[in-house]
Order: sequence, then C-alpha cells, then structure tokens
Amino acid sequence: MALSRMELDGKGAGSPEGLVTLILKAAPGLTVPIPIEGLARQLDIEDIQEFEADGFEGGLITDMARSRGLILTRNSHPFRRRFTIGHELGHFLIPTHMPDAAGRFLCSREDMRLLSALENDRRGRMEVEANRFSSLILMPPPLLRPYLKQRRDPDLGHMAQLAAKFEVSRQAMANAYAQYQGEILAFVFTKGYCFPTSTLNFRSSRSEGVKLCPRARCSSATAHETALLRTSVRAFPKFGLMSRAESLHHSSMSKSLASAMILQS
Ligand SMILES: [Zn+2]
Repeated sequence: MALSRMELDGKGAGSPEGLVTLILKAAPGLTVPIPIEGLARQLDIEDIQEFEADGFEGGLITDMARSRGLILTRNSHPFRRRFTIGHELGHFLIPTHMPDAAGRFLCSREDMRLLSALENDRRGRMEVEANRFSSLILMPPPLLRPYLKQRRDPDLGHMAQLAAKFEVSRQAMANAYAQYQGEILAFVFTKGYCFPTSTLNFRSSRSEGVKLCPRARCSSATAHETALLRTSVRAFPKFGLMSRAESLHHSSMSKSLASAMILQS
C-alpha cells in the first residue's frame, strides 16, 4: 500500500465521501479489516499515542498548515480505538475543519456518536463529518456491500459477524448495516434490560410496543441485549418508531436504552 496526501487533492477532497473515494482509488488493494493506523501514517500522521483525561476520547495535534499531525486516543477497546483514529484522521484531512484551540482538536465520547447536527452548529457538523469519514474508511461501501448481498434478510447475527470482520464496534456496524441493507431497520442497544427475542417485526400499524425485562430478573437463558427492529414504511414512519423508542426510554426503561438508531428512511 503506497499512498500520499498529494493524491487526495482531487475533486471532492472537501467531503468525507469524496476523500474516501480518492483514498480507495489511490490504494485499490485495501482489504478488510482496513489497516487504519498504517493508512494514517501514510497520510502524514507521525504518531498515535495514548492519552487519558476525563471525558476525552480522541484528539489531534497539528500545525496551522496541517503539514503533519499527532493523534491521541484513550486506552479503549481496540475496535473503538480504530474508530477514534479514523475520526481524528477525518479532522486532519478535511480542509474546512478548524480546531478548538491553536492546532488542537479534542473530542469526547459524545462527539464520536454524533450522527447529525443543526445547520448553525459548526462544531457539531465537523464532528458529524469526522464520524462519517471514520465509518466510510473503516467500512468502505464497495467492500461492505458484497457481504450484505450474501443475506436476503437483515440479521442481527450477521451484523455482529461483520462488525468482527471489519474490526468495528457493533454500534458502528449497525449504523452502516441499516444504511446500506435496503430495508427500514433499527438496532436497539440496551443496558441492563433484555428483549424477548432478537428480531422484532413491526409490519402492522397495530403492533404493540417492545416489552423488556430487567436483565437481573430475566429468567430466559437466551435473553438479548440488542435487538433488530424490522418495520415497513406504512407501519412505522421514521419518526414514529423513533418516538416509540424514546418513550420507552423515558417511561418504563429509564436510562437503560443506551441508544436507538433509526438509520434508514
Ligand atoms: Zn472530533
């Protein structure tokens, strides 16, 4: 793999999608899991070091001209660390990204989860773009799609297998899986609660809400802490399902619903 930042000057270099397209073109031999550290080093990241601070997940130290960079990551799970490196590389490569302080980006765990931001929230939009870059470079659509085509129906186990194959977290893969699979899907992750089954179908507008039981009191040997929600446009428009998940969060589930992602409209 021989790559240099000179090759990323082409059309589209200002967006995560354009940059990833240019990287894939310049390094056509890339295979999964994407060697994100090697890629970052070829693109002028001099070193990747561990750094610990409250609320800190990742950071980038660079100069005004962005001639070189140093990526900082928390000592976290290797898959999460890979996403952080991708995120900081995104800040480094996207020319419009401006650091908080002189030459320094500091990003929190919440920043790494941002999937959308308001038009006037400049910092939020940079974080969203860095996340999009990281997702796209770790799970390039041309390399992910062939795996998705192997199964006709979406499947939670398949999603988990792909997360392991691409060396990304299940949340990151769930995001991409729902986006490219072609059906309206939601993956719901819970903490301390479990679902009666791993796949919940909402095909009719009369479907009841999801009933969860506290993990500690669950008698089922096959309790699931992650569920795949399948729906249809008619039964649950995008926001209908989201509000249902949020209402669960606020009423019966309190803080147990870690995240509910509605990713395909
Ligand atoms: Zn960031």
